Amino acid sequence: MFDALPRSLRELQKRVRAFVDEELIPHEVHAEMNHGELPPGQGARVKARVDALALRAMNIPAELGGSGLSYLAQAVVSEQIGRVTNGLGWCVTTPALGVAEAASDAQRTIWTLPTVRGERTECYAITEEGAGSDVDAIQTSARRDDKHYVLDGEKWHVTSYNHADHMIVQAKIAGGPNDGAHALFFVDVETPGVAVVRTPAYTHTYSHHHPIVALRGVRVPETNRIGAEGDGLTFTQSWFRYERLMIAARCCGAAERLIDEATAFARDRIVFAAPLSDYQAVRFMLADSLTELWAARLMVYRLAQAHDGGEDVKVLHGQCAMAKLYASEMANRVADRAVQIFGGRGYMRENVAERFFRELRIDRIWEGASEIQRDIIAGQLLKRGTARLTG
Ligand SMILES: Cc1cc2nc3c(=O)[nH]c(=O)nc-3n(C[C@H](O)[C@H](O)[C@H](O)COP(=O)(O)OP(=O)(O)OC[C@H]3O[C@@H](n4cnc5c(N)ncnc54)[C@H](O)[C@@H]3O)c2cc1C
Repeated sequence: MFDALPRSLRELQKRVRAFVDEELIPHEVHAEMNHGELPPGQGARVKARVDALALRAMNIPAELGGSGLSYLAQAVVSEQIGRVTNGLGWCVTTPALGVAEAASDAQRTIWTLPTVRGERTECYAITEEGAGSDVDAIQTSARRDDKHYVLDGEKWHVTSYNHADHMIVQAKIAGGPNDGAHALFFVDVETPGVAVVRTPAYTHTYSHHHPIVALRGVRVPETNRIGAEGDGLTFTQSWFRYERLMIAARCCGAAERLIDEATAFARDRIVFAAPLSDYQAVRFMLADSLTELWAARLMVYRLAQAHDGGEDVKVLHGQCAMAKLYASEMANRVADRAVQIFGGRGYMRENVAERFFRELRIDRIWEGASEIQRDIIAGQLLKRGTARLTG
């Protein structure tokens, strides 16, 4: 069962909420009108507050240099940063835990520890033009050449590439005893053969871009390989589970903000000589939104506790899919209703509902689209039955 948040997490929630309200939300409209950028000087203020709150690399254990927050604490934080539009909440960083754990001592020194400290920035290059949902269809190859690998392929939607100095690239081993196996590699963006093909425009207004990146004969030492040949899919599966839970938490934060703002507007807006909040059609939209938010939040907190309690990872896999599916679709419904309640104002980019209406759409697509989550859930149901998955 889910118990109420302990007092220490209530305190954390309050502190992160204050940070979000004071340093991020007031700058959303500036960011929307300025390619996702904060006003001059604000980035440094945000960084200082993130450091003071110990929110950098919040998912990485202290022995690997991070803040080592519990899953429940991370869900609390993610929910608060989910209240902000324009990707401004991405100041709270969560480098890939599986990679940090699997990294060799040398890799820790070169890549993961500096990333955890905020001195280096990573990005993930998995998806390709012909391989998104079906990760196994990737064609990027890693061919061994003595003590090196030569990588060839093209990666799509490489989020944050414009801020990153290295990529974690997923490729298939070409030749040798592990032919066709997946492996991950650290690749510095300055390595010869790495090039941006183009940077498409996307629906949201974020300072983080998602370019298409080519790898043409990119030669990396074998010491850049993360873990063993064949480990590639294992790391991405654990990353997907984690991210799905945190996406669900962020969607709860977004829904809460939307409900708060739409409720305040409905109270004040006079139409036909009465506040909008007097009309049943509007009340029902708010009521449905609040009810669905509560359901999603209970799923998220309960699931975060289950991670902290070390429950069966196979069951958690199905439950993360359920939480991501439900919370992302819930938040999209709430955003749609909020736009409707705001009327014409809800179509203006300076309005939070308009921005979330666009931005939340991606949560039904990345880290496994809704159809993929449903497929995972159905597969788990058939394998394990209702009781295992719902407690
Ligand atoms: C803004 C953005 C940022 C991203 N960032 C990154 C990143 O940093 N790194 C990275 O590697 N990738 C990234 N991605 C890629 C993202 O994870 C993929 O877009 C996503 O997994 C879906 O893959 P796809 O786009 O190829 O769609 P497809 O796999 O082509 O699917 C298209 C549609 O078909 C549906 N579908 C697929 N299979 C089935 C099925 N079996 N049954 C029913 N329906 C099905 C899907 O749900 C989807 O709706 C990003 C994408 C976007 C848009």
